[in-house]
Amino acid sequence: MDYPTRFDVIVIGGGHAGTEACLASARMGMKTLLLTHNVETLGQMSCNPAIGGIGKSHLVKEIDALGGAMALATDKSGIQFRVLNARKGPAVRATRAQADRILYKAAIRYTLENQPNLWIFQQAADDLIVTGDQVEGVITQMGLKFFAQSVVLTAGTFLAGKIHIGLENYSGGRAGDPPAIALASRLRELPLRVERLKTGTPPRIDARSVDFSGLEPQWGDDPRPVMSYMGSRADHPEQRCCYITYTNEKTHDIIRGGLDRSPMYSGVIKGVGPRYCPSIEDKIHRFADKDKHQVFIEPEGLTTHELYPNGISTSLPFDVQLNLVRSIAGFENAHIIRPGYAIEYDYFNPQDLNYSFETKAIAGLFFAGQINGTTGYEEAGVQGLLAGTNAALRAQNKPAWCPGREQAYLGVLVDDLITLGTQEPYRMFTSRAEYRLVLREDNADLRLTDMGRDLGLVDDARWQAFNEKREAITLEQQRLKETWVQAGSEQAKKIEQKIATPLTREYSLHDLLKRPELVYADISQISDIKLDEAVSEQVEISIKYAGYIDRQQEDIERLRSNEAMLLPENLDYAVVDGLSNEVRQKLTEAKPQTLARAARIPGVTPAAVSLLMIYLKKRG
Ligand code: FAD
Repeated sequence: MDYPTRFDVIVIGGGHAGTEACLASARMGMKTLLLTHNVETLGQMSCNPAIGGIGKSHLVKEIDALGGAMALATDKSGIQFRVLNARKGPAVRATRAQADRILYKAAIRYTLENQPNLWIFQQAADDLIVTGDQVEGVITQMGLKFFAQSVVLTAGTFLAGKIHIGLENYSGGRAGDPPAIALASRLRELPLRVERLKTGTPPRIDARSVDFSGLEPQWGDDPRPVMSYMGSRADHPEQRCCYITYTNEKTHDIIRGGLDRSPMYSGVIKGVGPRYCPSIEDKIHRFADKDKHQVFIEPEGLTTHELYPNGISTSLPFDVQLNLVRSIAGFENAHIIRPGYAIEYDYFNPQDLNYSFETKAIAGLFFAGQINGTTGYEEAGVQGLLAGTNAALRAQNKPAWCPGREQAYLGVLVDDLITLGTQEPYRMFTSRAEYRLVLREDNADLRLTDMGRDLGLVDDARWQAFNEKREAITLEQQRLKETWVQAGSEQAKKIEQKIATPLTREYSLHDLLKRPELVYADISQISDIKLDEAVSEQVEISIKYAGYIDRQQEDIERLRSNEAMLLPENLDYAVVDGLSNEVRQKLTEAKPQTLARAARIPGVTPAAVSLLMIYLKKRG
């Protein structure tokens, strides 16, 4: 049969992790095969049609800085864009876009279909070809065999997926899609630790049955933010309004009345759900004192009446879902198009992975996305990019790559998962990053695009645009240092109007911009300079926050010296004097590769870290 069977990299699953993984590998010049259940569901959003948000937009922009697809697809499909935390400092600002799910899928599919070196094949992967401790390929449902040096598995919620609505349950990968049963059983034969997790989604509602008249409208921002460093407002489709409503005491009574038929509260579901995206039954249980919960009503797209009521994810029986929905203001006559449900699925302990996301047990087998115990499209996408890159590097016999915690949220995510593991679906927050003033969403390109170019992930157009931007920032920083405003001059008068005190000596524009009353727009006005927004934003942040950023850089240098102190893999912690038994046990289990990683293990105290350091120095 004249069909290609030998590849450099095979990716299983065309969700958010799989699409970024196969694109990364193909961008790096590797002959890459994507095997997925259904070409129609490439880039499908299983739950909320939205990309970004707090902590998550940082990941989207990092994917973008490394040449990935998610941010560009969001710009082509976003029907409402906002900056969350806009009034707070730049470290925690986060762009969020409501997306048209059909346009999003189309943008992802277009990118995949036009990516050189990438073959797409609609087939379930049922088995892995493993010889000794080495993966060699994949066997599909039709019995076809494909071979590669590296295989990336990104099966999402599909491995032995079980869907629950009330006390009814059935096998499924997500509503409307088959589960991956054969592959799940095969994986259980391999020396990998498997557990179950759970997630859920709300019922979807027909907009024609909703009374919007009493609801709070919520428009996007003006000026509208853009997600990709290579995107523009001109890419955005028509924009839509969202609305806000609330649950009430009646809603809560209906939910309490249905808990005996809830799969979560009757013990049918064993898997742990996402703490930060709880079901409505969880919310009324955990926050029993609250008399209402917010519900964001979000359109699913431009060409559908379907609405996503964000905040009422549920797996209660359908009759309870209908009653609870109809008890909410605006939804009195709501028609449910799709019921809400919960899904339980297999995930693998991420502590069994290397930093490249290659499994420790099977060489050449990489895991990414929801199967590593995470939740969210953005978390999945960034992992896919990492695993796809490392799968390609392995196929090229090159060393693996992973950014550090001080370089990227991707580094934070990988390090958290590998060092600490996870017992509940892991999602990203800015609070997880200790160097968040340096890891902002606005500077992901300045942090990562150089690295991406070296790896072969960044194309010429992005590289050129990036270099032009970087040069413009340096030139403007220089100009501000060298341009002086004389006391009594016309320019000084303009400044005095803003700061309400006279300028008694000459100041550089750089020094003036440090003053809290002034922003870059005031400074640019007096010198009649018009810069690209992305450039002026960097100039302003680098000058205004210089003190804090410098201090964080010093912390980073300290971290780097601890990262450079390697702990031998077979270190017997019993011989390190002074460590408590508890610390010894934790270190023996986690096997941290460096002193810095040891320090991040909960329960490993600063005193224990000092003892380890003394031991390492003595050992030489
Ligand atoms: P997926 O997007 O699930 O993609 C997996 C892909 O692999 C699919 O295309 C599938 O067809 C394919 N596949 C699987 N097995 C095989 C096989 N053997 N052969 C070939 N192809 C295969 N995230 C949140 O952040 N918040 C939420 O509230 C939330 N709720 C959710 C509710 C539900 C019901 C579901 C299903 C998901 C929810 N998510 C939520 C999670 C979000 O959808 C995932 O985090 C994200 O989609 C994970 O991306 P992924 O690429 O790992 O997997």
